[in-house]
Amino acid sequence: MKVFKSLLPILVLMVVAFYGYQKYNQLPPSATIGITYLTHMLALIVAGLSIRFSRSSVFFYVLLIVATNVILRAGWADGEFTYGLLSTFLPLLLVVLTLLPDRGIFSIKAIPAYAVIVLTCVFWVIVVATQPAWALQAVLSDWLPPQYFDWTGQSQSVLIVSFASLYIMLTLSILNPSLHLCAGFGVLVMLVLQLHFGDQGRSLNVFGGTGLLMCLYAIMQETWRMAYIDELTGLPGRRALREKFQKIGSKYTVAMLDVDHFKKFNDTFGHDAGDAVLRMIASKMTRVSGGGLPYRYGGEEFCIVFTGKNSQEAVRHLDALREAIASKPFIIRRVGRRDSDNRTKTSVNNSIKITVSIGFADSSKDESTPWNVLKRADQALYRAKGKGRNCVSE
Ligand code: GH3
Ligand code: MG
Ligand code: MG
Repeated sequence: MKVFKSLLPILVLMVVAFYGYQKYNQLPPSATIGITYLTHMLALIVAGLSIRFSRSSVFFYVLLIVATNVILRAGWADGEFTYGLLSTFLPLLLVVLTLLPDRGIFSIKAIPAYAVIVLTCVFWVIVVATQPAWALQAVLSDWLPPQYFDWTGQSQSVLIVSFASLYIMLTLSILNPSLHLCAGFGVLVMLVLQLHFGDQGRSLNVFGGTGLLMCLYAIMQETWRMAYIDELTGLPGRRALREKFQKIGSKYTVAMLDVDHFKKFNDTFGHDAGDAVLRMIASKMTRVSGGGLPYRYGGEEFCIVFTGKNSQEAVRHLDALREAIASKPFIIRRVGRRDSDNRTKTSVNNSIKITVSIGFADSSKDESTPWNVLKRADQALYRAKGKGRNCVSE
């Protein structure tokens, strides 16, 4: 599902790019000049945003798109061998830059990425200048019957490298459907198409421009995530709750959930184990029945909103959630003392019962605003704590 959500916008942009490429020649010259200008502006904006948000992978994708455009427009890759070599190196470079860990853009840790780019450029220039026989053979030879490849001007080696790179990027995007990886896959498709069609102007503008739009989409989505999604638990945060409250209807229930004796848990087992508990609770909350929407309110306090349900209708779903959390012990693996031979460390599994208290209130009272309802839910939460915890209270 997440793969589909992340890849779908990229696939839509691909289809639009292909359509745009077919129709591009029908545009008046003034429009194509405008598109060229906009593409340059877009490159500057996306590069600037990637630096501002320190998104190195997107920055390097933009760099590859810009470099491809500069090289092709300047005519530095004219000639079958030079062009073939460029078409081989670009997809590989994109894959390698994607696989390198994200280490910033202007930091010492980013040096490996720049080293890969510089070495590739130097290697490309040397091989183009000297044209050694092995390189000519590697780039231009036919490995398979040539009659199957008359649909493309690219050599078979370029096709093999392009498809292998596409396969790697698609697999990475499916295994870890992050926006950056999906955008990387999209940019690679755009670069491969751009190099396949190779015509000046049209393919550079359409496919290069679409590649930049994919990068922009990845950055905007990431920014949205940073603003709305809590990093630790993956739940929507308080800003998202505020937006939910702005558009909520007249019938709803708000619940506040708080972890019991969590300070003691942190003191005993450490903050990292505490974080793991919060993630476990968040994952249970995403599966709450009755259509409840979970939010991280702050610290170890969470909020659940049931739209279209009053408190009587919501209570059984809240109690089922409380029960689901309390009934499954939380296992903490702790490294224990050394063995008698004083060499091997033993690890101990501690099984801890985690419980939560829940307070809730609905909108049935006169002049209820969602924040008032939330306040009443918070008061109910303190009643639940007073009743001995691990319970729900209205
Ligand atoms: P009670 O049952 O009355 O709720 O007791 P409590 O100990 O849970 O309540 P208290 O408000 O005193 O403690 C809340 C603790 O939650 C304190 C803080 O260390 C911990 N906490 C808040 N946010 C986080 C977090 O993001 N990660 C971790 N590990 N702990 C957190
Ligand atoms: Mg608390
Ligand atoms: Mg607590």
